[in-house]
Amino acid sequence: RKQVEEQAVPAVSITKAKILEEVKAKEADQKPVLSLVVVGHVDAGKSTLMGRVLHELGETSDKEIFNYQRQSEKIGKGSFAYAWTFDAMEEERERGVTIDVAIDSFETTRRRFTLIDAPGHRDFIPNMISGAAQADAAVLVVDGSNGGFEKGFEGGGQTREHAVLVRSLGVQQLIVAVNKLDTVGWSQKRFEAIRESLQPFLTQTGFNPAKVAYVPVSAMSGENLTRRTSEVLESWFEGRSLVEELDSLDVPQRALEAPLRIPVSNVFKGQSATASGLAISGRIESGIVQVGEKLAALPGDETGVVRALEVEGELVPYALAGSNVTVYLSAIEANQLSVGSVLCPPSQPVPVASSFLAQIIVFEPQYPITAGYAVELFHHSRDIPATIVALEALLDKTTGQVTRSNPRMLTKNTSARIRVQLRQAASAGRTSGIPLEPFSVNKSMGRVLFRRGGETVAAGIVLEVLQ
Ligand code: GDP
Repeated sequence: RKQVEEQAVPAVSITKAKILEEVKAKEADQKPVLSLVVVGHVDAGKSTLMGRVLHELGETSDKEIFNYQRQSEKIGKGSFAYAWTFDAMEEERERGVTIDVAIDSFETTRRRFTLIDAPGHRDFIPNMISGAAQADAAVLVVDGSNGGFEKGFEGGGQTREHAVLVRSLGVQQLIVAVNKLDTVGWSQKRFEAIRESLQPFLTQTGFNPAKVAYVPVSAMSGENLTRRTSEVLESWFEGRSLVEELDSLDVPQRALEAPLRIPVSNVFKGQSATASGLAISGRIESGIVQVGEKLAALPGDETGVVRALEVEGELVPYALAGSNVTVYLSAIEANQLSVGSVLCPPSQPVPVASSFLAQIIVFEPQYPITAGYAVELFHHSRDIPATIVALEALLDKTTGQVTRSNPRMLTKNTSARIRVQLRQAASAGRTSGIPLEPFSVNKSMGRVLFRRGGETVAAGIVLEVLQ
């Protein structure tokens, strides 16, 4: 007998077509919601910056900050006060690093933001991947202090890898916060030098220069987050503040009419005012989900019924593409769901692949990629061992045209079409494969990343699911 929570499940109340109508009618008088990820080298000031932004926008009170300050002084990290609003987990506090992907939200004059905090520590890149895969825009924090920027940008610094990651996961809009400029007396020269180093790199990474903004800030003093007090900065900087930049971000188009896809980023025992029991959280990549709806969890053969839906702490009758949602499910067992499962309508299941064709950009792997190259394949929150079994063609990076068939190897900064095979049980099919779709069908389900030995070696899009 199945051990499931047997609680009443409300029936589906309206059709999705009706919901779409309702949504379009409402859209006009609501602030659009964007997901934002904050990335950058460790110690660049990400937590301090976002903690401070939340404070300036009135999301955290002076009293909270004071309490955090006191607690952090106790463990000898006084300057972490703002970061503390952010690093909620006890363990993180003791270690002074942000580990998990924490979510918070805030609003500016014209936009609402769901903040996905991405950790900066090298070991935590897989976490960052799941954060960045959910983001509409990114803030790249760089340390503008003397030597600070260089440390993060050259050698083993993470500035490059993070920028490449967010871009290859589909983020097009980037705000570069050049932080800690208080330490160099708000030097315009320093700011410009950093911009000149970053600009060609970001363009090469695939960012459209028109979608990249550079903002001089100090997370510590709060300068140029919402307002400017430094006369020196005022004398040469005429651009927008960080919050003004956030407020001006483009609102991405949501795939509301496409089949529902919710990649699961967390499975837990949930608890809310009216719902408890098995819950998952994740971002709705496309479509609409509603209470009472039956959903399939892939890979696997199980279905569950949506008992309740929660968005930003509120119970809702339905939720739309672009929202980060908690779904309470009944009639399904916990072991049928895992991080990386995808929830979808049973009538429109996402293909579960064990082999696929991809078009990739090769980063800077230590050794060139040859046929038989073993990788960790990342897709949303899932990572799975795979092999690049065949190199089908080298492609021109800008036109995508084949420049050579069957290359012997792929060196850095090349583009190629490759065949990928999951390593375990090619035969186990639906239960062990990876749910993904061609990029041409569903953009956010069609992006993949390849890592090996702790470095990201390539990223790309799915062209075709083979098996
Ligand atoms: P994260 O690892 O990127 O989250 O960085 P943190 O927010 O933890 O900050 C790293 C260190 O830089 C801390 O000691 C902060 O107090 C310090 N810091 C952050 N922002 C600024 C700033 O604008 N100016 C100065 N002088 N120090 C800063």
